[in-house]
Amino acid sequence: MKSLSQEWLAELNLSPLWRQRGVADEVVAPASLPATQNNHLQGVHNRGYLPHLKAEGGIYFLTFRLADSLPQSALDELERSAPETRSKQIETYLDAGHGECCLRKPEIAQIVIQALKQFEGERYVLHDWVVMPNHVHLVIEPRGAHALSDILHSLKFYTATEANRSLDRHGAFWQHESYDRLIRGQEEFDRCVQYVRQNPVRANLAEAPEQYAFGCAGYVAGRDAGATTGEVVAPASLPALTPDQIAQLDWPQLKQAAATCTACALHAQRTQAVFGVGDEQADWLFVGEAPGAEEDQQGEPFVGQAGKLLDNMLASIELKRGEKAYIANVVKCRPPDNRNPDAAEVLACAPYLDRQIALMQPKLIVALGKVAAVRLLGKDATIASLRGQVLDYHGTPLIITYHPAYLLRSLTDKARAWEDLCFARQTFRGLMNQANATI
Ligand code: SF4
Repeated sequence: MKSLSQEWLAELNLSPLWRQRGVADEVVAPASLPATQNNHLQGVHNRGYLPHLKAEGGIYFLTFRLADSLPQSALDELERSAPETRSKQIETYLDAGHGECCLRKPEIAQIVIQALKQFEGERYVLHDWVVMPNHVHLVIEPRGAHALSDILHSLKFYTATEANRSLDRHGAFWQHESYDRLIRGQEEFDRCVQYVRQNPVRANLAEAPEQYAFGCAGYVAGRDAGATTGEVVAPASLPALTPDQIAQLDWPQLKQAAATCTACALHAQRTQAVFGVGDEQADWLFVGEAPGAEEDQQGEPFVGQAGKLLDNMLASIELKRGEKAYIANVVKCRPPDNRNPDAAEVLACAPYLDRQIALMQPKLIVALGKVAAVRLLGKDATIASLRGQVLDYHGTPLIITYHPAYLLRSLTDKARAWEDLCFARQTFRGLMNQANATI
């Protein structure tokens, strides 16, 4: 019987290497063993999930590798070799560390690991993983609406950008093609996990999986031994993307970029970047100034008392958080002591909000408070002087009103805020009528 490595490496010789699998026609057997009987998972799979193999989504063995890991000369040579020896040769090529092997550098491996961990549990479950010097293996289970192809695209794009920048190099970082295999049962799942875990040992990089820092087993062992995140995983800071690079990102990439952004000093004290919440195709965009303490903890803008007031304001014009409306802030990370973000922080974070707006293309923007108003208008002015007008943000109508946190302290301005919302609703209806009339 062929080993798993022989199977997948043999398949690696077929093109195209990347196949977008339709899972509907791939029926996957349910898990036959509980996690406690699966000793490959001990110490690795510790998030409370069972290794359930489900038809919906499924679990994949996924491999992607550096652009130079299999040079053309090697591929030509492999083409001439006997099919039965080809898989072994490829395995030898990869594990012998062909090419530049950028992932051998801790700072580059850490970029990949940090990116992998960023959305673990939210977009996917990582049953096991290893970052080898010139390739990466994952046993991955996409969650919800997150397709494997989207996850991989986002991961490769982000890590390639960051790694190239860190290495001061250009050009393809990852090979375009990747390899995925839908895991069809418990035995295959166990073999895949074992294959991934043992890869550093087979490649003579460690005597045991737990000794290899850039694999799941080593990561868990290091953490259990009290190693800091920085020692095992990634440095706290990574170089920031340029505004031009941010302007090219899609939603998942943009969220990931903000989550790891270090472009201003606010990153140092954040619990997490607070990207935004709501319908990404919404007609209405509400922009506040910055996350506060509760937002920083929960990862969502406008929670707490100010958030409740904003929800009430939305309800008064028949909107709801998450439906027809999107809520974001001028800066994505919490300024200490709830101070306003300073000019440098607003400037550093501007590409993120600009890109959110470009992706969303809202029909109407409502700026909540002076920081948001000044940022979106690009000029200083008081709220009082800006209210009651349809202003402009790069062609999108913009209306200004008070920040809900201010309204909690200044009850007399609540009536004015209500007027502003009515004005916004009336403006929106006018825009819709105009649009309908021109169809
Ligand atoms: S506030 Fe914006 S620019 Fe500053 S670190 Fe956070 S995401 Fe980056």
